Order: sequence, then C-alpha cells, then structure tokens
Amino acid sequence: MSMPICIIVSPVQESADEAIEGRLHLVDSHDPQVPVTDLGVTRGDGIFEVIGVVHGRPLALDAHLRRLANSAAMLDLPALELEAIRAAVLKTIDLDEHREELSVKIVVTRGVEGTGVPICWVLSFQTDDHRAERAEGIKVVLLSRGYPHDIAARAPWLLTGAKTLSYAINKAALREAARRGADDVIFTSTDGYVLEGPSASLIMKFGQRIWTPSTAQGILRGTTQGAAFEVFGRLGFATAEVLVGVDQLAAADAMWLASSTRLLAPVRLLDEHDVPVDHDLTDTVNAALLDTAR
Ligand code: PLP
Repeated sequence: MSMPICIIVSPVQESADEAIEGRLHLVDSHDPQVPVTDLGVTRGDGIFEVIGVVHGRPLALDAHLRRLANSAAMLDLPALELEAIRAAVLKTIDLDEHREELSVKIVVTRGVEGTGVPICWVLSFQTDDHRAERAEGIKVVLLSRGYPHDIAARAPWLLTGAKTLSYAINKAALREAARRGADDVIFTSTDGYVLEGPSASLIMKFGQRIWTPSTAQGILRGTTQGAAFEVFGRLGFATAEVLVGVDQLAAADAMWLASSTRLLAPVRLLDEHDVPVDHDLTDTVNAALLDTAR
C-alpha cells in the first residue's frame, strides 16, 4: 500500500510577502508530526474537514474552506489563510498516486498549549467503497442528541454547528446504531425535530419538494447537501431548508444521508419502518455530483 501524503501548513499568515509555497511542508506521514502537548490531541480542541476527490478534483472545495473558516471563527481560532490551505489540498491531491478517487482531510488544532499558534495539516487517504450503500440503501435509527432545536441560539458555547475534532459522541452514536442492527443515525432534538446524522446531512423528498433541516438548529451546513440541492433544482424540484418534525418523516417518499465521500445514500429502513427508495433519482443526483469533478 502506498503512503498517504501529508503536508503541514502554517495556517496564519505572518508577513504579507511570505510566499504560500514556502509555507507548505511535505512530511513523512508515518513519522510523528504533532506534539503530545497539542490541544487537538489532549482536548479535541480544533476543527476539520473531509473532502472527496474524484478524477483528481476536489468536490465542493470552496464550500469546505468556507465551513472551515466558519468553524475557526466559532472556536475563536486565529483567522486562517484559506489560500495556503487550498494550495496544500491541491498539492496533496497532485502528489497522491490514487488521485483518481481519494479523500483529503484538513485538520487545524489550537496548537501546543500556551503558544496560541494553530497547527494545520492536510492528509490524503483512500475512500471507503460506498457503492453498495448508494445502490441498496441504508438502515437508520433515530437517536436523541439531547438538546432542543434552538440550542445554537441559546448556548452558542456548545459549538453545535462547528465541525470540531470532538467527534467521540458522533462515533458513540454510530456504535449505538450498530448495536441496534443499523448502519447510521438521524439525530433528533429533545423537542421533536430532525437534525442530521453523526457524519452526514439529511435530505427528504415530499413529492416535488426537497427539504433539509435548517442549519439554525446548530447543525452543519452540508457541502454535499448544498451541491445536491443545485442538482435537485435543475431537475425541477423546489428545495428548502426548514424545521421538520419527527412526526413528518413518515410522509417522506424518499430520504437520504449525504456526505462528501459517500454522496447520497438512500435510507431504506428508519427504526422499524420501511422507507421508499427512489433508485433512479439517487443515481441521477449522485452521477451529477460526480460529474462536477470532470
Ligand atoms: N453533518 C455532520 C455532523 C458531519 O460530520 C458531516 C460531514 O462529515 C455532514 C453533516 C455532511 O457534510 P459534507 O456533505 O460537507 O461532508
């Protein structure tokens, strides 16, 4: 197996005349690169993005960089120089022999305690094969996230809606789904609204309307959902970001979990209820998403 490509980036510009290329450092991804005192390691204090790469092109790179900047602002990290990070992503892809199809992760941590200097790296890795999930659909359970739907406005310090490195809860929810014989999760609010998956956005179809839960509920703005909505719009559907009650799900005539490397995976079972799967529409939208990389 070939080695993942890893580039360390200085994410905060120190002087205006510093060339971007000089701030990207290709390192050996098997060597230790992050100090044991790094706050990302010791406290999960940092942010990340995962970008799908198809035909050597990153999908929705601008949207990922915008979300990274938004997460950085929510965590009061220093302003990131996105052009250096973009250059690192493109160089990582260029250097990886699997660039036809892979994933690229951007990580920014708060850095070593006391320094106030963030650490950023960009790493390539091979994408799991999601073709079966796209074709056959997935089994999903509803799990409570434990917050009301307006938590982001009530308690912004909880950082709901930022893509932080603290994904232990998201992973625990996926293990709970596995214990219940399911593949994935849709989180619900304590006051009865649907939110998102632990690593995916929810998209629902009600006739000619395509909905996703509103990001005002402290959920991530999905880059795949955003790109998929453009495709649904071109196909003549009316798209909207709305509040959707758990009790409305039974009326959906299709449902998907959407994320960067998996794209749209149709939900075929929600708790113990069958959900209709629209194979043609799923294939059409996924093909259009993959096509944006051409
Ligand atoms: N919601 C959460 C909590 C996520 O972690 C992710 C992606 O990892 C998404 C939604 C989907 O985002 P994207 O489509 O940009 O991958």
